Amino acid sequence: MIKVSLPDGSVKEFEKNSTPMDVAKSISEGLARNVISASYNGTIVETTTTLTTDGSLILYTWNDKEGKKAFWHSTSHVMAQVLEEKYPGIKLTLGPSIDNGFYYDVDFGDTKITEAEFKAIEDRVLEIAREKHEFKMRPVSKSEALEIYKNNEYKTELISNLEDGTITFCDHSNFFDLCRGGHIPNTGLIKAMKIMSVAGAYWRGDEKNKQLTRVYGISFPKQKDLTDYLELLEEAKRRDHRKLGKELELFAFSQRVGQGLPLWLPKGAALRDRLEQFLKKAQKKAGYEQVVTPHIGQKELYVTSGHYAKYGADSFQPIHTPAEGEEFLLKPMNCPHHCEIYNNRPWSYKDLPKRYAEFGTVYRYEQSGELHGLTRVRGFTQDDAHIFCTPEQLDAEFKNVIDLVLYVFGSLGFENFTAQISLRDQENRDKYIGSDDNWEKAENAIINAARDKGLNTVVEYGEAAFYGPKLDFMVKDALGRQWQLGTIQVDYNLPERFELTYKGSDNEMHRPVMIHRAPFGSMERFIAILLEHTAGNFPLWLMPEQAIILSLSEKYENYAKKVLSLLENHEIRGLIDNRNETIGKKIRDAEVKKIPFMIIVGEEEEKNGTISVRRHGQEGKGNITCTIEEFASIVSEEINKTLKPFIV
Ligand SMILES: [Zn+2]
Ligand SMILES: [Zn+2]
Repeated sequence: MIKVSLPDGSVKEFEKNSTPMDVAKSISEGLARNVISASYNGTIVETTTTLTTDGSLILYTWNDKEGKKAFWHSTSHVMAQVLEEKYPGIKLTLGPSIDNGFYYDVDFGDTKITEAEFKAIEDRVLEIAREKHEFKMRPVSKSEALEIYKNNEYKTELISNLEDGTITFCDHSNFFDLCRGGHIPNTGLIKAMKIMSVAGAYWRGDEKNKQLTRVYGISFPKQKDLTDYLELLEEAKRRDHRKLGKELELFAFSQRVGQGLPLWLPKGAALRDRLEQFLKKAQKKAGYEQVVTPHIGQKELYVTSGHYAKYGADSFQPIHTPAEGEEFLLKPMNCPHHCEIYNNRPWSYKDLPKRYAEFGTVYRYEQSGELHGLTRVRGFTQDDAHIFCTPEQLDAEFKNVIDLVLYVFGSLGFENFTAQISLRDQENRDKYIGSDDNWEKAENAIINAARDKGLNTVVEYGEAAFYGPKLDFMVKDALGRQWQLGTIQVDYNLPERFELTYKGSDNEMHRPVMIHRAPFGSMERFIAILLEHTAGNFPLWLMPEQAIILSLSEKYENYAKKVLSLLENHEIRGLIDNRNETIGKKIRDAEVKKIPFMIIVGEEEEKNGTISVRRHGQEGKGNITCTIEEFASIVSEEINKTLKPFIV
């Protein structure tokens, strides 16, 4: 018998050579139907793998990331089978799962695959799927494997790097492939499959190698899942922040200025400024002090901090000056500067915590292929802050930061999030800097703070940085995509490297603990995510323009101006569309700009001193006629619903 422990903490005994599927069946028939992959003692196994030792088992379904991986990777085998069938003589290389689906890199030789052929391939994949072929792993000796793949230089290279005795093939139907494992029980689970695109890809990602064809696909256990997914992709395209950023005139890029260096247009700059003021106001209440530091620093600064070792060679190179040997770097991080602010004077434990905040612009050299709109750029502004505190203060500081992050999310309409807590690897504690005692304090502070604040948490062991544990907020946007926003990170390393000290109550000198935190992350990435989450319909308090005044004709221009000035008195951001266009055209254009309120003024309104208000996206439903005062209270009421004061 073997002992199998399950994630709920229970331990059950099974016959030796039982499989994960046997375990699933012993729990329930329903589970057995849904289990598609498993891991045993941390290693991915097949649902049919025989278990020979005691261990801990996790069963995965389609709802788990690991389940999807197995599902998609298995589909890549079937797609490879069909490609081989349809294009004899091609050379298969690698076919892993990715975040959304899978790909297979293929050397098509002289033939070419075109979009016109996708449908036939998809149909054949589903045909094979319906035949319910089991995926079976089979060990193969190195010499045998090399012999089988003697005409495929890619597989030969892969096999050469493997140790004899560890090589396995996966069989299904009449097809086999070199594979480590991690498959669903049989092809019958694949009910929908689509080839998404083909692209060029160098063998092993090296441009010195031959260019292969990467065939991207995705598959699902239900046809409806595929339909939903394709709809989601369409919606994501409509919401693409690069497209919306252009339409709403928020930001632009210029090849002359340089790749990955966004230019903020007036409306975008105003939006950013509003976000900054919003956070500054809350931070002030939370006890932060604003600081300002330069965009560059001496190379030595980053050698001290360790950032030079990490970013130096692969990032922007030092700036030289006329002075011999003098070198500066564009700052990749604000932390070293803030450490030196802390070092500007001696501190006593009574002075702590110190909380220094800065909207600090940093520069990191991203490969041009990695650049993407505002989410991957080469220069960006972090809503950075560093807290220097005693180990005893960590608990309270963590709660303080979590409150601030939750306030930011609430004010911006992010309601769906989990907190990921990254702790040390339990087995291997040597690779972390800082005393065991301090780590324990910090890890407990994070866990306690997250629990006290009622956060929905996931704990990941071994995910902590070598210099400290952290808490990341994982936010789901309106399309169900997950983003990492708002990091809180404990650091025992920089206080050491910068020799930060404070005098304790025992009159001895001690090292403070440092916390890095950024609720937005960076202004660029945050605005991109917010744009896609809201489709450009920002919360009213943040909207670049809250109301647009549309006059029915030139005759009412003076009244329009008067309305605008009254709106300004109520701190409502408005503008006038006084173009010589029909009201219908003016309304359509205002809709495209996503301006929340359209205010229509004509003879009636002027005579009565009123306005007619139409809401964005409501096609005239709920139009009202009211006074400016009434309108102002509608606006402030709506703003107060999302933007509440930050209470410490
Ligand atoms: Zn495989
Ligand atoms: Zn930092």
